[in-house]
Amino acid sequence: MTKHALYLHVPFCVHRCAYCDFNTYAGQDALIPAYVDGLIREIELISASRQIAAKSIFFGGGTPSLLSPIQLASLMETLRANFAWDDALEASLEANPGTVSLDYLQKLRDAGFNRLSFGVQSAHPDDLHLLERIHDFWDVIHAVKWARQAGFDNLSLDLIFGLPEQPLSRWQETLKYALDLHPEHLSLYALTVEHGTPFGHWVARGMIPLPDPDLAADMYEWASEFLAENGYIQYEISNWAKPKYECQHNLQYWRNLPYLGFGAGAHGYAARTRYANILGIQPYINRLKKGSMIEFPRSPASISKEEISPYQAMQETMMLGLRLTQEGVSAEDFRSRFGSSVEDVFRQELDELFSLALLEWADIGNEKALRLTPHARLLGNQVFRRFVG
Ligand code: SF4
Repeated sequence: MTKHALYLHVPFCVHRCAYCDFNTYAGQDALIPAYVDGLIREIELISASRQIAAKSIFFGGGTPSLLSPIQLASLMETLRANFAWDDALEASLEANPGTVSLDYLQKLRDAGFNRLSFGVQSAHPDDLHLLERIHDFWDVIHAVKWARQAGFDNLSLDLIFGLPEQPLSRWQETLKYALDLHPEHLSLYALTVEHGTPFGHWVARGMIPLPDPDLAADMYEWASEFLAENGYIQYEISNWAKPKYECQHNLQYWRNLPYLGFGAGAHGYAARTRYANILGIQPYINRLKKGSMIEFPRSPASISKEEISPYQAMQETMMLGLRLTQEGVSAEDFRSRFGSSVEDVFRQELDELFSLALLEWADIGNEKALRLTPHARLLGNQVFRRFVG
């Protein structure tokens, strides 16, 4: 039975942060109970159509920690009742450090979650103020302490660098403070200024400067060295982990393996079909109340689908797999999955990328894998574009 990663989207936030372009809404908390009912129905509908084993569970958002422990436990119960999984399964929840308590985290642990991902972003009050985050770094310190007391031994912290007017020294301090909390995993993202967000308007009107890309590159390189010195392995362009703490859920995406997305605006990829759900919370609830399954993997909430051809699957396997800085794309896996060698399918692209020193062959155990060269990690998009056009 092919294992599927399971993603549940929770599109509620206390406040919309100035840089955020995720599908999430503030001031809609009254809809949470009906939304949870919708999620339960969607899980039941999709899983009723075939037997599915779960690879991992991830509650993302939005702010999943706005759901009550009872609501989260009932969702976990529904997943447990409808998918096969073993006890070692990674079950993650994204949490806003300003929304948790010790009691809350203990209840999450009791419900079966074993990994937390805290949206920290920065240790500096000026950065957090600019980003319009609702927490400060004291909230992070408390949240991590409570998570440990509650028995979580797998914590991830998300940080953002390359903010307007953020000097290198402030980023270095953020990373040092973050490491003092001994997380098992770190995700570091360069700020992207998205059109349509308050940040986008401020930049367009000259109210704040655009982040300096050269400085952001220096921040990234400094972080890579600092984290390596401190025992973290960079396993993906933006992700570092202590050995054996790589995020199993995200690995499933990067390996281009199947996942099911539940909730408003969630995406999924299974049975050679990619699909997307309707964005709005109320429309999502309405569709789940009335509708019936379209066909696996699409529930009544699904509004679009794309059949993925074998060639497209190969292209996407390259684009996603090359994000994995250690593992890359295994030549053997590629051949056994698609029946052709990666050199035959992408000869021209590979020759070009080798000549630009952006790609290399690496020996991993007894296998050969294609990987980005270290200096190509900052130029990933140039490489990926060659595979997907
Ligand atoms: S908490 Fe996260 S998801 Fe919610 S608005 Fe802020 S950045 Fe977006």
